[in-house]
Amino acid sequence: MGAPNPRARLPAVDKLLALPDCQALITLHGRQAVTAAVRTTLAELRRAIQADPDLVLPAAATLISSLAATFAQGDSQRLRPVLNLTGTVLHTNLGRAVLPTAAIEKLTQVLSGASNLEFDLTSARRGDRDGPVEALLCAITGAQAATVVNNNAAAVLLVLQSLGRGREIPVSRGELVEIGGSFRIPEIMTSSGCRLVEVGATNRTHLHDFSRAINANTALLMKVHTSNYEVRGFTSSVPEAELASLAHQHQLPFVNDLGSGTLVDLTQFGLPYEPTAQDALAAGADLVTFSGDKLLGGPQAGIIVGRKDLIDQLKANPLKRALRVDKMTMVTLYEVLRLYQHPQHLATQLPTLRYLSRTAESILPLAAALQLAMQPVLDNIAQIELLPCMSQIGSGSLPLELLPSHGLALSPRPNPDSDAALQALALAFRRLPIPVVGRINAGRLIFDLRTLDHTDQIMHQLDQLVWPPAP
Ligand SMILES: *Cc1c(COP(=O)(O)O)cnc(C)c1O
Repeated sequence: MGAPNPRARLPAVDKLLALPDCQALITLHGRQAVTAAVRTTLAELRRAIQADPDLVLPAAATLISSLAATFAQGDSQRLRPVLNLTGTVLHTNLGRAVLPTAAIEKLTQVLSGASNLEFDLTSARRGDRDGPVEALLCAITGAQAATVVNNNAAAVLLVLQSLGRGREIPVSRGELVEIGGSFRIPEIMTSSGCRLVEVGATNRTHLHDFSRAINANTALLMKVHTSNYEVRGFTSSVPEAELASLAHQHQLPFVNDLGSGTLVDLTQFGLPYEPTAQDALAAGADLVTFSGDKLLGGPQAGIIVGRKDLIDQLKANPLKRALRVDKMTMVTLYEVLRLYQHPQHLATQLPTLRYLSRTAESILPLAAALQLAMQPVLDNIAQIELLPCMSQIGSGSLPLELLPSHGLALSPRPNPDSDAALQALALAFRRLPIPVVGRINAGRLIFDLRTLDHTDQIMHQLDQLVWPPAP
């Protein structure tokens, strides 16, 4: 007597799909996706049976619940809000700047229907998408003209490609920066068709290094703000104003990539000095490029301000069309820039500056209240201590500046020294409905409360913490 064909024991696709739990999955994710997942599972089982004919088949219910787990896992990867308690205020992986409420409200209104994105309501003719934001940028910075693209990497690319394609651009060896996510000055030069001419040395570059590099094929002079590192010791760089006047003696534009770039003097908020776009223009830059979602506190964007004839050249480049921003960026950037017209309210109304300008003393009561509320709920899971700590600005801005803050330090119970328990604790918090992301330091899970607005944001979901978390 031959053994029964083990593959005949596999349930049929239709039978599985008809099960109530499977129907529930179909309601959530659609018939096509669930059918494909069922087919994949059955195919895997078929292969497993081929390898081992005595394999004990899992029950249909088990198959479906593992499918459900796979779908849930995929779902948890979708873009959604998290609580950033890492202590890095402008965290690139966590979406950088948090937008002000005013901007979010306007965004909802504009996205809910048609808008005058490129429509002049007076003449009923085609309008200029950049227009309103450009006017504000000019009013705030004093620049003649401005334009906006997708991010600052795109801004630098557009400037180099428009003004320097096929020509030479001298840059100090001390400024050949790499920004996270593979933005490197030498590579961006190549992709924009410019020839980078390295001048000076890593630690020291002088004005004569630049003047020697200038020839008939030079397109412009450029300064790159070394925003994410600092060279210390025997160093020297050419002051912007001198570089600008050298460029102007040779009728060349001087471009300054500020990177973070802000529009207000941050020292008034108790923060370290960071060059503003206004300072860069005053020091002689013909074009200044900076990010919208770093210190500016707005949406992802690349902002270019400066001389009108040069901005006109950028706008005429077909690449500008490819790099243009959408209405979501335009409306939120406009609302954020409007806040800069009332700098006295920035520290309360612009989340980035509100977080950055909080003092350690003002964060302490929040930390104390949260510790008090959390400890009883997590009594068997973690020991919670109040901790003075240091926050970072992030996004490569002012990398050496740390801001004194307060946070909570959680150690797992009953095994405070177990790394596995610590990782599990961090995972359990990342599995909350609004995932809470901290940082692990010296064997403890740290929540820096600089970027927390209310204890409620954590407390209201703590009863949903699953302990221990499923692997
Ligand atoms: C951050 C940065 C960029 C890139 O800006 P994105 O907006 O992230 O594209 C370019 N140059 C400098 C100096 C920077 O700091």
